[in-house]
Amino acid sequence: SPTIGVLALQGDVREHARALEECGADAVPVRRASELAAVDGLVIPGGESTTIDKLLRAFDLFEPVQQRLRDGLPAYGSCAGMILLADRVLGGIEGQRTLGGLDITVRRNAFGRQVDSFETDLVIDGVEDSAADPLHAVFIRAPWVEEVGEQATVVGRVESGPAAGRIVAVRQGPLLATSFHPEVTGDTRVHRLFVQIVRDSL
Ligand code: GLN
Repeated sequence: SPTIGVLALQGDVREHARALEECGADAVPVRRASELAAVDGLVIPGGESTTIDKLLRAFDLFEPVQQRLRDGLPAYGSCAGMILLADRVLGGIEGQRTLGGLDITVRRNAFGRQVDSFETDLVIDGVEDSAADPLHAVFIRAPWVEEVGEQATVVGRVESGPAAGRIVAVRQGPLLATSFHPEVTGDTRVHRLFVQIVRDSL
């Protein structure tokens, strides 16, 4: 089974590890370059993108992770993880950097005060059965994707409510990102998709 790392600097690492294990992967925490070197794929969890950016630098992991992404490492970013995988960020703090890889522009904390945190059901392309059995998505101070460049593909949008039409899931080769947190719902279908992406890359 593939070994999938969960970047374990901040955020909900355990929940991702549990979901990955349920999908048949070996999940390992990644805090140092030697651990990164041993993984077939990487999950970048939700949390706070500005903090994870700083910790990546403090742990001397920023360049190694960026290099592996450039070399084609499959990665899945949820919420703050989506921001870290984006090539461009709006509403970031001064000096905020991203690892990049996804040809998208994300808007940080995009949904605004009224809908800071909300839940909705979504259809995500590539997620098993999601047309018949929509995915319950939990958004927590989430970004949305404001622009999608030529390399990236939209795989999910909010369907109703004040944010209807907003792009919240994207794919680009072995990279996957969602604005929401599938690791908190017990529905492992997004993780299953990512584990399949990792398997296909081996
Ligand atoms: N607002 C956070 C950020 O900018 C993301 C929130 C989350 O990951 N739940 O990184």
